[in-house]
Amino acid sequence: MTKSESLFNQASEFIPGAVNSPVRAFNGVGGTPVFIEKADGAYFTDVDGKTYVDYVGSWGPMIHGHNHPKIREAVIAAASNGLSFGAPTEIELIMAKKVCQLIPSIEQVRMVSSGTEATMSAIRLARGYTQKDKIIKFEGCYHGHADCLLVKAGSGALTLGEPTSPGVPADFAKHTLTAEFNNLQSVEQLLQANANEVATIIVEPIPGNMNCIPPSPGFLQGLRTLCNEHQVVLIFDEVMCGFRVGPGSAQQLYNVTPDLTTLGKILGGGMPVGAFGGKKAIMQHLAPAGPVYQAGTLSGNPIAMTAGLTALTLLEAENFYAPLYDYCEKLMQELQQLADKHQVPFTTNHVGSMFGLFFTKEKQITHFSQVVESNQQAFKQFFHAMLNEGIYLAPSAFEAGFISAAHDDETFEKTLAAADIAFAKVAK
Ligand code: PMP
Repeated sequence: MTKSESLFNQASEFIPGAVNSPVRAFNGVGGTPVFIEKADGAYFTDVDGKTYVDYVGSWGPMIHGHNHPKIREAVIAAASNGLSFGAPTEIELIMAKKVCQLIPSIEQVRMVSSGTEATMSAIRLARGYTQKDKIIKFEGCYHGHADCLLVKAGSGALTLGEPTSPGVPADFAKHTLTAEFNNLQSVEQLLQANANEVATIIVEPIPGNMNCIPPSPGFLQGLRTLCNEHQVVLIFDEVMCGFRVGPGSAQQLYNVTPDLTTLGKILGGGMPVGAFGGKKAIMQHLAPAGPVYQAGTLSGNPIAMTAGLTALTLLEAENFYAPLYDYCEKLMQELQQLADKHQVPFTTNHVGSMFGLFFTKEKQITHFSQVVESNQQAFKQFFHAMLNEGIYLAPSAFEAGFISAAHDDETFEKTLAAADIAFAKVAK
């Protein structure tokens, strides 16, 4: 028995499913998860001493690679001043200014401790601001696990086969309407059928929780127009794609301005951080400036702010994003060629340094239903073959993968050598 297997068995006794977040348990791919001991750059090492090229990056935050010396040193220095004060600090102001500078649609921002808190709070604010109750989300988009958002959600909620979780009262979910991503008509119909009742549309502008599906041309702009017409607050959930596809995030890439934005992951540089922000006129409704309540004991925590601010500052280095984009683009091309060589039905999606792998005969994946219909069995085989060869992909066919600044020629070649073996196994 490996040490990972032993730890997994022991953890099953004390932690539900042995993990503190479901997808980590490999429930989407089967087998025992590897337990990680340490990570550095593009690699991490498990408790049995095996090293992997990591394409998960802690599910998105580690865009600079693991254990970046500047982030580590900043955190150690900050920790020597105390871990938490529960009172205002200057670094919260510096962080707020930095976020507003990088994403100009954010005029004011509130820090929280997770993406879930960010989306939950942004929705409460949108409801309080508009004095309307209903929300529209998209099937396959995941926005964390707040009750009203666990309706046809992506990510771990998909692999568990429980899109609507037990424990969410029907009365809580009844205000959540679900549309189809990349289908404006489905949104328009809901807005018409619920005239003057919809407070907000929340969307992942680049969904990464039903694998990676880029927005079709005009889709995000169409949402903006519909929101203007129906006085609906448009929330871009950029917890995953924020700072991932460029310093100005997806809204800059597609040139569409939301009313509110939610952030997380990269924003915390690996520490537990989320944030929501947007138009001052809306944000001013938030307590203590306004009546919509929201709070957090550890919100704006100085260590988390230090890690995040250092991570954001590193993004501003000249030419930071281009090598990540190049790596991702080339990796997708080469993987496609290998799949073709082994005659494995396969296609990919990518935006910037976010990517998705699909085992399917279809050439273009633009809708959630196509992801559901793709060959999960082939994905599982590929995943395990890659893991065996020392390449760590997201353990689910419904999750995006990520390239970091630490991925290089060496990781590239290792990945292709492994993929050649893995596609051959899938082809058998
Ligand atoms: N929104 C999106 C788009 C996400 O990808 C996630 C997490 N994967 C969340 C919200 C929830 O964030 P957290 O896990 O930090 O609560």
